[in-house]
Amino acid sequence: MKHKQRVYNFSAGPAALPLSVLQEAQRNLLCLPGAGMSVLEMSHRSSWFEGILHAAEANLRKLYQLPDRYHVLFLQGGASLQFSMLAMNFLRAGDTAADYVVTGAWAQKALKEAQREGAVHVAWDGKPDHYSRVPTASELKLTPGAAYVHITSNETIQGVQFEKTPDTSGAPLICDMSSDFLSRPIDAQRYGMIYAGAQKNAGGSGVTIVILQDELLNKAPEGLPSMLDYRLQAEHKSLYNTPSTFAVYLVMLVTRWLLEEVGGLEHMARINDQKAHLLYEAIDCSESFYRGHARPDSRSTMNVTWRLAEEALEKEFLKGAQARGLYELKGHRSVGGMRASIYNAMTLEGVQALRDFMDEFRKRHG
Ligand code: PMP
Repeated sequence: MKHKQRVYNFSAGPAALPLSVLQEAQRNLLCLPGAGMSVLEMSHRSSWFEGILHAAEANLRKLYQLPDRYHVLFLQGGASLQFSMLAMNFLRAGDTAADYVVTGAWAQKALKEAQREGAVHVAWDGKPDHYSRVPTASELKLTPGAAYVHITSNETIQGVQFEKTPDTSGAPLICDMSSDFLSRPIDAQRYGMIYAGAQKNAGGSGVTIVILQDELLNKAPEGLPSMLDYRLQAEHKSLYNTPSTFAVYLVMLVTRWLLEEVGGLEHMARINDQKAHLLYEAIDCSESFYRGHARPDSRSTMNVTWRLAEEALEKEFLKGAQARGLYELKGHRSVGGMRASIYNAMTLEGVQALRDFMDEFRKRHG
């Protein structure tokens, strides 16, 4: 189908971006005011690009209130490379195991890569419940003195999310925050490291943001390949080689939008809660016409996942949704059904349109 207008895009990532960010990028594509050239044409060593990189970092520091002892890095290779890189830096050379909390598909992948690098202990695995929930504090079987504890704060495929940061009994907490990065305030100082691919909540694809505590960084061994060495990346302030310049520019625009237009993370979180509530309410009031995948206490505010009674009905739902300009609602093949990804840039209006369609579809077919 051809579209003249923008649709409501519920894609899990790359995902919808704020309209004002796209408009600014469009306005400045040929010529960044003052610079006389496009960001796409600009040397990463130019003072213009350094200004963009510094602004992106400063915005992130402000949003998460990061103290100086945290480094902010802009790396490539996606969150998937971080699965390996963090284990190379903090597990390979040590003699203590790392704890992994396996809440879904992404945590499984992180675990698999770490297993290649050293001793790994599964502190909890949600498989018996089909990855429909996160663990309670008492269920976590942590190793005393663990090299680190790895969690996935939001499982993009299953749609389960930690509401609170789990306690790690003093071990550094490393978090894959790819799909709920910048969606709510966090106490960043409870984390040894946070990493996130930018293409859901922070910009386009091509850059991965790593926030890393200095104490943890200093535990990295010598002799790692340069590109996979956090210490070297931090020393060179993400400019050891050519970074994904346009992707960093988008992160700068999106973080500025969060600060200046949205008004910060508290406000963003309130809007995100409101959006998620609209969809979960439609599920809960549907008398099992819609069946949520995640248990209510572990529901994600970013990826809402649900099924219908029959696959034929699911196909019908997707078709009807598309006809109303509601796109990318098909769930991941491993879970099936629907998934509405409602990251920061998805508007309340877009979610309301989906909610209206869900109610209407149920009345017609329920
Ligand atoms: N972790 C999570 C939670 C994700 O959602 C994704 C991507 N969907 C990844 C890791 C992998 O990210 P990338 O494609 O940037 O490697």
